[in-house]
Amino acid sequence: MRGLRAYDPGHDLVALRQRFAPDGLVELGSNENPCGPSPRALAAAGDALAGLHRYPDPLGGDLKRALSAKHGVDTSQLVLGNGSHELLMQLAQVFAGPGVDVVMSRFGFAVYAIAAQAVGATLRVAPALPTDARMPRGHDLDAIAAAITPATRLVYLANPNNPTGTWFAHDAFAAFIARVPGDTIVVVDEAYAEIADAPDFGSALPLLGAHRNLVVTRTFSKAYALAGLRVGYAVAHPDVAGLLERVRESFNVNTVALAAAEAALADEDWLRDTLVANTAQRTALAAALRERGWSVTPSQTNFLLVEFGEHTAWIEQALLDRGVVLRPMAGYGLPECSRISIGTAEENRRLLAGLDDLASESE
Ligand code: PMP
Repeated sequence: MRGLRAYDPGHDLVALRQRFAPDGLVELGSNENPCGPSPRALAAAGDALAGLHRYPDPLGGDLKRALSAKHGVDTSQLVLGNGSHELLMQLAQVFAGPGVDVVMSRFGFAVYAIAAQAVGATLRVAPALPTDARMPRGHDLDAIAAAITPATRLVYLANPNNPTGTWFAHDAFAAFIARVPGDTIVVVDEAYAEIADAPDFGSALPLLGAHRNLVVTRTFSKAYALAGLRVGYAVAHPDVAGLLERVRESFNVNTVALAAAEAALADEDWLRDTLVANTAQRTALAAALRERGWSVTPSQTNFLLVEFGEHTAWIEQALLDRGVVLRPMAGYGLPECSRISIGTAEENRRLLAGLDDLASESE
């Protein structure tokens, strides 16, 4: 445990919000959805307040039934989490420990390493794709398969991945999981899957029937814009879901979160509209950044990994001084890059104006 570091939020956002009121802080550091949640989700959250003296439904029955209908799976295949982060930790708690190998990709989501180390497992990190690949720094499924040993019980993949924004093709994943031994759990973290629309992208959910060792995790934090309520879910074979249920804290998803998530799921129009807005803004922002000479990794998410090179830390600080928050990537071993969440049109304009300001200052 001493080798682990506690979560570092990077910035004191509460203090920054005060400092940049009333214009507002441009928060592009945490891959949130700037459109906000469905009004129906907000109304359901409000209605749920009347029941706060009672414990939440420990089974999350209504939300599970809604998810079961959406994904065409049985409710026994679903596990709810206080954010998908909690489920990623629980997976390690159940399937890893001392003497067990856990495999992930370099530049994979940071929580996987913490989950493995927290239970005393041995982490094996497969090399990522090279920077000149079609998916720079993306998951290399062959390298990940090669990193699996007879002691491996858990593999974490993210599709699309954070912090790179890259993705792997559905067909490539189908071939990958067919090669993985059946006693090794393969977790596909699909936190950004609702956003992805590339022709070769596909959710791993349809493969659940053929692979009892597959676990797919999803969240309401990104596309559904409910990050503050903390709701995620895992979909797996009922036996695997049952094991996760054994370590789950009884009331891990609160009353307001259950109600809001269920209502958000029902508001497909809102989801579609926010996804359209995100894709349009992402395309425009990537083009504007490339026009200015920065290298931008292809993304199927609500953020961009941008290479600012040796001036990265200076740019991040100078933008912060102008009220624009990016996510520094030094902790990921990418000090030459920043991760920039897609904001509203106005927020993205303020980001670009800040960058242009810096460029003219340094001339
Ligand atoms: N997986 C990935 C790839 C993420 O980027 C995040 C959030 N940054 C999570 C999981 C966790 O999200 P949450 O706990 O809010 O569901």
